[in-house]
Amino acid sequence: MNITLIAHDRKKDEIVNFAVAYEHVFEKHKLYATGTTGARIMEQTSLQVHRFLSGPLGGDQQIGALVAQDEMDLIIFLRDPLMAQPHEPDIIALLRLCDVHGIPVATNVATAELLVRALDRGDFAWRELVHKYKPGAAEA
Ligand code: PGA
Repeated sequence: MNITLIAHDRKKDEIVNFAVAYEHVFEKHKLYATGTTGARIMEQTSLQVHRFLSGPLGGDQQIGALVAQDEMDLIIFLRDPLMAQPHEPDIIALLRLCDVHGIPVATNVATAELLVRALDRGDFAWRELVHKYKPGAAEA
């Protein structure tokens, strides 16, 4: 599965702690992140993370493009609900695309835990069928 981790600055410690706690789950999947979030996770875990641009520089939009192409399977996006973000339109656009394409997205750690446990149980295996039968996907 393709999984994205993003955290606003005051949520960075929280996402790192989360990645440490669920490293045994995340290591079985392909991880993506915005720039700084990905760097922090790689510094403090042994996970490999594909890093996009930093969120304020367009990273959320890059991830949104993968959602639009139905290539992202799950997003954990720890937003800071108490501080305005200069790239708020990008954040809203990413969440909107998750709703358009029915992609599981958690914006707080309580929901993130539920999603990651469901992921580990195989509840999102249906996403493999989406990849398999996507137009242009290689024949099995
Ligand atoms: P960052 O981007 O991981 O590069 O900090 C996340 C954000 O603040 O949107």
